Amino acid sequence: VKKNGKNGYQFYTGQLNAQMKEKIELEADLRQAIQRNQIFLDYQPQIRAGDSQMIGVEALVRWNHPTRGIISPGVFIPIAEETGMIYELGTWVLREACRQMKEWHNAGGPLIPVSVNLSSQQFHQSHLTEHIKGILKEVDLQPQYLELEITESMMMDAAVSSSILHKLTEHGIRISLDDFGTGYSSLSYLKNLPIHKLKIDRSFIRDITVDQNDKAIVATIISMAQHLNLDVIAEGIETKEQLEILMKNDCKEIQGYYYSRPLSADEVEEAFFAPLRI
Ligand code: C2E
Ligand code: CA
Ligand code: CA
Ligand code: CA
Repeated sequence: VKKNGKNGYQFYTGQLNAQMKEKIELEADLRQAIQRNQIFLDYQPQIRAGDSQMIGVEALVRWNHPTRGIISPGVFIPIAEETGMIYELGTWVLREACRQMKEWHNAGGPLIPVSVNLSSQQFHQSHLTEHIKGILKEVDLQPQYLELEITESMMMDAAVSSSILHKLTEHGIRISLDDFGTGYSSLSYLKNLPIHKLKIDRSFIRDITVDQNDKAIVATIISMAQHLNLDVIAEGIETKEQLEILMKNDCKEIQGYYYSRPLSADEVEEAFFAPLRI
């Protein structure tokens, strides 16, 4: 870089400026995305391995950008978090997921819950339970059909998270610990906090057929969940070989491309709710 002197430096700032410009543009576009109906949800089925029944769906948010096409949540959720738009976006996601679930229940679909991802800021927003209660009431969905996916990193302050989780679960809302095993927090919260389910992170599944350490970690998480009376689901199952290892270790719930990619609401109805086609 020194050798090129000025040019190298200019190239670098040029690239940085382009990145910043893109981010600022996305930020501005995101402010209008909800009103312009560009935000939508896909749903990924969660399957009981024993009989291949769908036992839940995870709502995953997408942005259909007018010129860039579908943008992944990995790109725009961080922008929404940085700018405070996450509250409006998160509220929209919660309402739409609950509304869709109610519509499916009304149409004779299976009485299964929808899992919704919560960002840390949402988790810590004041009156979260009252807010969610309001949404459930508005769409007339019973609280046991809503599961919130939170991560270990939100459990850092045990007293605070305990109080939030108790309020949510006392109202009947289910809690799933997402990306389990990737956080740095201690396991002690597992014995005190009202949590229903552990979701084994995809990173432990990816190489499970060849990596003995991953296999040992996954087997241990499953066994621990059983001893703690928690449900356990594995995410990111792509192959039959991975599924077989999970089943051998008595993991009953599976989410991943092996069974299904995230689908549009219409696709879920077609593929999984045959009786709904009236
Ligand atoms: P996540 O909660 O861990 O969601 C699972 C991600 O893994 C999804 O990516 C899903 O499409 C993908 N996936 C599912 N099965 C497989 C598989 O078999 N193989 C592989 N390679 N991938 C699989 P997606 O939809 O891009 O979501 C990425 C992340 O964005 C999510 O990770 C979640 O942290 C966040 N996110 C998505 N929707 C929302 C939302 O409504 N609110 C918030 N706060 N975050 C969200
Ligand atoms: Ca999730
Ligand atoms: Ca996850
Ligand atoms: Ca993950």
